[in-house]
Amino acid sequence: MQPIISIRGLSKTYASGHSALKDVTLDIRRGEIFALLGPNGAGKTTLISIICGLVNPSTGTVIADGHDIIKEFRAARARIGLVPQELSTDAFETVWDTVSFSRGLFGKAPNPAHIEKVLKDLSLWDKKGSKIITLSGGMKRRVMIAKALSHEPQILFLDEPTAGVDVELRRDMWRVIRELRDSGVTIILTTHYLEEAEEMADRVGVIRKGELILVEDKLDLMHKLGRKELTLHLATPLAAIPAALSAHPLTLSEDGTTLTYTYDTAGSPTFIAPFLQDMAAAGIAFNDLQTQQSSLEEIFVRLVRATP
Ligand code: ATP
Repeated sequence: MQPIISIRGLSKTYASGHSALKDVTLDIRRGEIFALLGPNGAGKTTLISIICGLVNPSTGTVIADGHDIIKEFRAARARIGLVPQELSTDAFETVWDTVSFSRGLFGKAPNPAHIEKVLKDLSLWDKKGSKIITLSGGMKRRVMIAKALSHEPQILFLDEPTAGVDVELRRDMWRVIRELRDSGVTIILTTHYLEEAEEMADRVGVIRKGELILVEDKLDLMHKLGRKELTLHLATPLAAIPAALSAHPLTLSEDGTTLTYTYDTAGSPTFIAPFLQDMAAAGIAFNDLQTQQSSLEEIFVRLVRATP
């Protein structure tokens, strides 16, 4: 299938001389949720801003749903909705007016039926006559999404959609985003919350210092780079790891009561039987054991810290 967005050799050097994006090439698949991850200042907003026509690239091309974002700016932009980080809307306008106005900005004829559907989908229908200023933070965020969907885009960018919101609202937003994807909209989101990417994304891309250092199916990534830990709670504390177990990748807790064996999730855990035999031979008994798999967060921290 043709990608819905095709980015080739995209670079951006700001007038300050700062090189914010370096030769980024990426395809976004139609209908996926793609999470763009990276530390502060990595270039995520710059990338989104270029695709949405808010910032000019220094070099490279972007085709959005068949349209070059520079040569066919209006056609490309009409296919894209953007939910920016900042809530920016007129506080004294009503929900209905502000969302309808956004549609007009794209030169689209009024379509009250579409606006009604968007407001209903986002549970904003009973607020349609309310002024923005009277809404809760969560409702304001929904209005931002409604504005971005007002012109019926195929592609939706969400820049940090749940920054600073409470856990309940975050789960609510996740549901809204999933429903949008299920209705056929391709979603690209940036997030600092790895839990969000872990929960939502089909694929993840990691940007570091302007370079796209990795693009991978989320599950493959967690499988390939994830680690598992087997923790044994010992019957009697140890002062040190016995020499008989030195061949195993073990760490002993400071109080000597737990031994942890760390292994890659990619291979099959064939080590367990010989390890437990060696434990028995060394006369070390344990009362309990548990396994734990590393989260996307731990994988991300390792990737981003990696040199250079
Ligand atoms: P955050 O998660 O903090 O939003 P980000 O990954 O979105 O970060 P960008 O906002 O794209 O990062 O910024 C990338 C780099 O480019 C940063 O070092 C930033 O200071 C710089 N930058 C962004 N906008 C401009 C500008 N208009 N002029 C000069 N430098 C800029």
